[in-house]
Amino acid sequence: MTSLQGKRGIILGIANKNSIAWGIAQAMHAAGAQLAFNFLNERMEPKVKKLTDTLPGAMTLACDVTKDEEIDAFFKQVGEHFDGQLDFLVHSIAFANREDLEGRFVDTSRAGFNLALEISAYSLAATTQRALPLLQAAGGGSVMTMSYYGAEKAVSAYNVMGVAKAALEACVRYLAADLGVDNIRVNAISAGPVNTLSARGIRGFTGMLNEAAEKSPLRRRITTEEIGQTAVFLASDGSSGITGETLYVDAGYNIMGV
Ligand code: NAP
Repeated sequence: MTSLQGKRGIILGIANKNSIAWGIAQAMHAAGAQLAFNFLNERMEPKVKKLTDTLPGAMTLACDVTKDEEIDAFFKQVGEHFDGQLDFLVHSIAFANREDLEGRFVDTSRAGFNLALEISAYSLAATTQRALPLLQAAGGGSVMTMSYYGAEKAVSAYNVMGVAKAALEACVRYLAADLGVDNIRVNAISAGPVNTLSARGIRGFTGMLNEAAEKSPLRRRITTEEIGQTAVFLASDGSSGITGETLYVDAGYNIMGV
């Protein structure tokens, strides 16, 4: 098993035990990493802490990525906790209004578009910006985010989130180009559908789950454990030559034609 012994990392985006971020947290904890987490607001705090408190040494603080002052305070406190150094950042956050995840993309409102792009794409740049001095102090590190196939193909009802994921994957490339000189790598994992709180907001999500299982080469869905293992690889020195990439953890679905 790949080791993350001695590495310090931040994981953003745990909502509950089904969250992709929680699958990543468990895999990274098992690999020996020291971890810090966020929760969105007071309502989410006990739900997130119930999980993260089961990981010895974990730190869990508030961070709503739409608020610059909360991002600043979060990275300041985590930075102090980790003695000014950070080895990896996992960004597993997305949001769009429910009405924008059904019907037609053409009907998306300006406010709905801006909200989805801000939370689901810009927040990667905003959090990487704050993580930068800590990653530099560690001599480099790894940043990763979660994308989906809807970034590159029009997926029914995925709508504005597909546009946000396309922006997110472009953010990955531009951040990778900026930060490579500091030995900081930036990558996306494009995951197949997983039954989570956010995913259930997409109209017809069950159909997406079934189609992924039927049409992917491996003829099954993927698990958060599998995403977790890929995240461990991306945080580890084993992936030291990989940056600016989108890695598919989708049982091969994306390679299939008609
Ligand atoms: P999830 O459990 O609902 O996680 C989404 C997280 O984003 C939640 O923790 C949510 O917090 C957080 N979030 C939303 N707005 C936020 C804000 N303003 N500030 C801070 N955090 C905020 O769903 P998930 O499926 O694991 O999603 C994680 C990532 O994987 C997302 O980027 C998603 O698009 C991506 N992804 C998911 C799938 C899938 O099929 N599930 C496939 C490919 C990629 P609250 O719950 O507290 O609001």
